[in-house]
Amino acid sequence: MDHQAIAITDHVDWSNIDSILPRLVRACEKLSGNMSLQVIPGAELTHVPPQAIPELARRARSLGARIIVVHGETLVEPVQPGTNRVAVECNEVDILSHPGLIPADQAELARENGVYLELTSRKGHCLSNGWVAKVARETGAKLLLNSDAHSPEDLLPPAKALSVAMGAGLTKEEAEQVLVRNPLELIKKL
Ligand SMILES: [Zn+2]
Repeated sequence: MDHQAIAITDHVDWSNIDSILPRLVRACEKLSGNMSLQVIPGAELTHVPPQAIPELARRARSLGARIIVVHGETLVEPVQPGTNRVAVECNEVDILSHPGLIPADQAELARENGVYLELTSRKGHCLSNGWVAKVARETGAKLLLNSDAHSPEDLLPPAKALSVAMGAGLTKEEAEQVLVRNPLELIKKL
């Protein structure tokens, strides 16, 4: 199946959000008008003190971000503990990316609040994919698979996306849910 949409979610914190988002929103409008894809503006709240996440998420929304991602507690970066918990409790947040060894009670909160947990093909960030897939299966939290593309060669053709999903331990049916149905459901919600 061809891709129907792509989201651009630049890294933001309080230092750059006001300059990045209005420009990104404008660029996405222009791109969407000239491509067969919907180009969705978003923001990845990155290295933000956990207690500041809800306010920054609201700020991002008011500046036109349609997808709000929180940069989660990956195994390979010093992300402040508590980031995952605040993200899954915040109903402005759509996706918690690379949540590392997220405990089951937080995955349950993600399910209750409709926050998707991310599987990723990005080096380093992908180290906990197997754990995230397992906890999601046990709790019913929903997953998305993200290329986290920072340059064109990072983008995932469908066959590669399927391999990454199955490499995380998903069955073919679960991978279908994560690669096709969940993204369509998220786009519809936006
Ligand atoms: Zn990230």
